[in-house]
Amino acid sequence: MSRIIIDSHNHIINHREPVWGWGPRFTGEDLIATMDRDYDVMGETRHVSKAVTMGSLGITALGDFTMAEAHQYVRECVQKHSDRLYLNAVYNPRIWSVEELNQVDQWVEDSNLVMLKLHPTMHNFLLPMGNPYPGRATTKLVFPLFEKARQLGIPVMIHMGEPPHSNPSSIDPIAREFPDVPIIIAHSGANNEISYALAATIVARHNDNVYLGSSWVQPLDLCEMYYAVGASKIIFESDCAPQSMGHQMRQVINLHLPPPLGVGATKDEVYDVIGGTIARLCKIPVDEPVGA
Ligand SMILES: [Zn+2]
Repeated sequence: MSRIIIDSHNHIINHREPVWGWGPRFTGEDLIATMDRDYDVMGETRHVSKAVTMGSLGITALGDFTMAEAHQYVRECVQKHSDRLYLNAVYNPRIWSVEELNQVDQWVEDSNLVMLKLHPTMHNFLLPMGNPYPGRATTKLVFPLFEKARQLGIPVMIHMGEPPHSNPSSIDPIAREFPDVPIIIAHSGANNEISYALAATIVARHNDNVYLGSSWVQPLDLCEMYYAVGASKIIFESDCAPQSMGHQMRQVINLHLPPPLGVGATKDEVYDVIGGTIARLCKIPVDEPVGA
């Protein structure tokens, strides 16, 4: 049983985020320092051992950068901290070719790549549905990434949280098309004022390969998820930056509290949420106590 903590979702950039607007920066060193802060985890002082990290979402959307350029800084950080950081590469299928996507094979070797990410809102596409249009067009955009994830044996994270492109119920068809590819619903669709956490929970309940990211999710929705799909399908995401890592981790650790404050989740269940499941999906080694 893994007892290390892994943050499955965070962003490091060395300039102001050009689309979301946050800044002035949050560097790889800032992320490591944040992971190394003291956190109270069910009565013990622990640190975040590892993180699956992304670069700036904004620079994947502007059209000014190749896929390699958009990932240069985050790859440098991962390579520098290769015992702590793992790469989630963001693919913009509107502007980048499948040939560009194929360079992630090399990133597995030299940059700890363990996940791929789609952002339907930022990159302006709908996930494929059953209808010919826009289903067929978006199939061409999205299927190559899922085929790549299947080939590499890694999960796909999909941003969710706002209509029309990012309502989590739209994940159901692609989850059935690729039942062997694990899918993490980022934020469980809850990163806006109208939360789609219920839709995300229902999709996860009906698809064995769908997991629920915890960032931005309200505490009562986290409790609902525990009862609906169990702790092993909830995955801790901080979305730091801009979210606070400690705040986002506290929300999932509080599942340990007895009802009505939490759900009385066991320590093993909480450690599944804050590290065990993402380690298993991403094949992240957990035997090294680095940073713990
Ligand atoms: Zn994020």
